[in-house]
Amino acid sequence: MYEVTIKKSFSAAHLLKEIGGKCEALHGHNFLAEVTVASEWLNSEGLLIDFRTVKRWTEEVLQTLDHTYLNELDFFKGRNPSSEAIALYLYERISEKAMGADVTLSRVTIWESENSCVTYRP
Ligand SMILES: [Zn+2]
Repeated sequence: MYEVTIKKSFSAAHLLKEIGGKCEALHGHNFLAEVTVASEWLNSEGLLIDFRTVKRWTEEVLQTLDHTYLNELDFFKGRNPSSEAIALYLYERISEKAMGADVTLSRVTIWESENSCVTYRP
């Protein structure tokens, strides 16, 4: 099994309800998204997939989050816009693009600080 991982950063604001502490106040992060696709097979050029393709898919989806107030987006209505929820949001949207290219999106990791990250994998 081969895996290809790309990283893209984005900035967004959020607040997290009912978890206690400072995160209940409005604040922002410079998030880093890591997106990993996997395949057992390589294409005729000897690649799993061109890095640029995965970066483009990720950028297209991140445009809907970058410099937003996450709590106001439809996907996060009724749930906390946690890094867990952001990872799921990205997974669902990027995996649709990956299916069209015959590769599997294996996981999405959201770093919300240098030392803390969350990974979603189905
Ligand atoms: Zn936060």
